[in-house]
Amino acid sequence: MITLKSIGQIDKMDASGRILRKALDAAGELVRPGVSTKELDEIIRETIEGESARPAFKGYMGFPANSCISVNEEVVHGIPDGRILKEGDLVSIDVGVEKNGWMADSAMTYTVGMVSEEAARLMDVTLRSLEKGIEQCVPGKHLSDISHAIQVHVEANGFSVVKDLVGHGIGSKLHEEPQIPNFGPPGRGPVLKPGMVFAIEPMVNVGSEKVKTLEDEWTVVTADGKLSAHFEHTVAVTEQGPRILTLLD
Ligand code: MG
Ligand code: MG
Repeated sequence: MITLKSIGQIDKMDASGRILRKALDAAGELVRPGVSTKELDEIIRETIEGESARPAFKGYMGFPANSCISVNEEVVHGIPDGRILKEGDLVSIDVGVEKNGWMADSAMTYTVGMVSEEAARLMDVTLRSLEKGIEQCVPGKHLSDISHAIQVHVEANGFSVVKDLVGHGIGSKLHEEPQIPNFGPPGRGPVLKPGMVFAIEPMVNVGSEKVKTLEDEWTVVTADGKLSAHFEHTVAVTEQGPRILTLLD
């Protein structure tokens, strides 16, 4: 069942989302050759805790860090550590925030110095596919209209969507129903209603859609070792259309 959130509850998620955005922006400003992923994780923790909120990923299913940081062929769920970023890397940072019992979830991919043309295009296409999915968050549309819009944009640009991992409902829990695949035919699944809140998160690969999990049991990488990018926003369906909760304004 998809739980509907009141405007008051959505406002609380928006407050969590603003804190999340501050934390992601702080990490994003630090991204450069020579910085470690652990340092990025630390600024995220400091920013969130400085707002009397909690990094929602810490301890979730036993996850050992405050954020997920995934570099190059790593798709999602990378564990921040002493790895030093270098010129040309792509780094995806995924953050969850809980404040007053309400969650927000957002991710962005950043460039480290100058990146290849292909990497830059992958980022642009992934971000744009997220925007296309968000545009579908309108009452009366079907859930799979989001999925379809993402897939069409990605594949029209010659990349592939990861199918083993999906977006999700979000609210007082980090992961709620429904699952939101980044692929599929339009016009299927539940009809969207005001009060539904989704974490929409295309994961897009330059090469094959196939992924595998490393021995740390967290880090998901592309099976072919090629680049991947990940963007995510928490979005409420409202009478006025999509309301993105993980932005500052
Ligand atoms: Mg996330
Ligand atoms: Mg998520």
